[in-house]
Amino acid sequence: MISVFGSANMDLVAYVPSAPKMGETVTGRAFRTVPGGKGANQAVAAARAGAQVAFIGAVGDDPFGPALRGALFESGVDTSRLRVEPGPSGIAHIVVEDSGGNSIIVVPGANGTITGCTAEDIEMIARSRALLLQLELPLDAVVAGARAARAAGVPVVLTPAPVVELPNELLDSVDLIVPNEHEAAAITGADDPDDALKILLDRVPEAVITLGSKGALYGSRAGTRLLVPAVPVEAVDTTAAGDTFVGALAVARAEGREPAQALRFASTAAALSVQREGASTSMPSRAEIDAALL
Ligand code: ADP
Repeated sequence: MISVFGSANMDLVAYVPSAPKMGETVTGRAFRTVPGGKGANQAVAAARAGAQVAFIGAVGDDPFGPALRGALFESGVDTSRLRVEPGPSGIAHIVVEDSGGNSIIVVPGANGTITGCTAEDIEMIARSRALLLQLELPLDAVVAGARAARAAGVPVVLTPAPVVELPNELLDSVDLIVPNEHEAAAITGADDPDDALKILLDRVPEAVITLGSKGALYGSRAGTRLLVPAVPVEAVDTTAAGDTFVGALAVARAEGREPAQALRFASTAAALSVQREGASTSMPSRAEIDAALL
């Protein structure tokens, strides 16, 4: 089982020829509400990629709450540790351009009420083969999750997004960090991914920097370094490409695959997701990933 301790948001997605600049109004092509949040997206990605997954988090007592729980449940994710807090659920306001690029505003809502782990959360984490964390929960909660996993000997995979200053008390409990190239540059101050990778490896044992259509760069303190090219595809919506990648990567690692095979599995899953619109709705099943890998 893989646990994800993170955010659940309702994504409010507008599709536009090009995003409005400040003060500008543009007419969109379409609008959708789609269950999302980096935590929930990674949970769905991992479940579709073939793992048993438990989601630890919170939704509000608004109409989005049951919709978010239902979407996780339909993807086979265990929601027994998803609590309901008074007030609004988290939302993400997403603009998707015809180019496939996106920009996102997140309003935390119920996610922001989580400040730590309960005894039941810790028990769930301790039974897992990996814990996936992102930075859409308050930092104290993320640190508590990482420490609970470390104390139980459970590997911690951190997606450092959205970027904040990363305290040592968090990174000391992280086994694998997976930023995209912008996040890697912001965290390390190094624009070149090779330089950023070296700096990340001073702080955590393993790192993957995802490079969009250029692929992904992996390094470990043990000295392995791999550049895994992206699968060449026509991208229509790159929302949650990174979350699909991380969810699939965690599944492959939990199944015991070596880094090169695990990265290929993750790249294949992410390439399938960018060919479809949406976030969690675009994530491929295990059968689709296995078929594409042949
Ligand atoms: P994020 O969604 O976090 O910004 P990236 O854009 O780096 O992350 O994408 C994550 C992974 O998804 C990449 O490493 C790559 O494997 C895959 N990917 C992203 N964009 C494309 C694309 N246009 N074509 C093929 N694969 C892609």
